[in-house]
Amino acid sequence: MRKKITPTAMRILTLEFLLEQSAAVSLTDIENHFFRSDRITLYRTLKTFEQKGLIHSIQETNTTKYSLCKDSCGEGTHNDNHLHFYCVQCKETVCLEHVDLSPVMLPPNFEVQQIRFFAKGVCNKCSRQTMQ
Ligand SMILES: [Zn+2]
Ligand SMILES: [Zn+2]
Ligand SMILES: [Zn+2]
Repeated sequence: MRKKITPTAMRILTLEFLLEQSAAVSLTDIENHFFRSDRITLYRTLKTFEQKGLIHSIQETNTTKYSLCKDSCGEGTHNDNHLHFYCVQCKETVCLEHVDLSPVMLPPNFEVQQIRFFAKGVCNKCSRQTMQ
């Protein structure tokens, strides 16, 4: 594993699961997939992945979801300043990397450490279905 993480069985399985996903997943989703594993181990695995720059978390109203990072993320540094889009129909959250987000202009002496861009609506898969 490129990002220097000791590959325990749980970590390998969790990573494999994350690689298969087309949308972000919540702890509950992962838990349901590994129905015999314990929640605390899973939670710690995700926290380790997040610290190492492998996945990033997406805060939603009642849940936190996780999605794989791009190569530019590393230990302690995330560059996931892209838009997250939540679809109200399929309930999936996806990372939208190529949406142009204009830089946020702040008054003097304000320093940004993190910005979350979050949008809610109907995704391209669902809007295609409604048109048919
Ligand atoms: Zn990241
Ligand atoms: Zn959708
Ligand atoms: Zn993302």
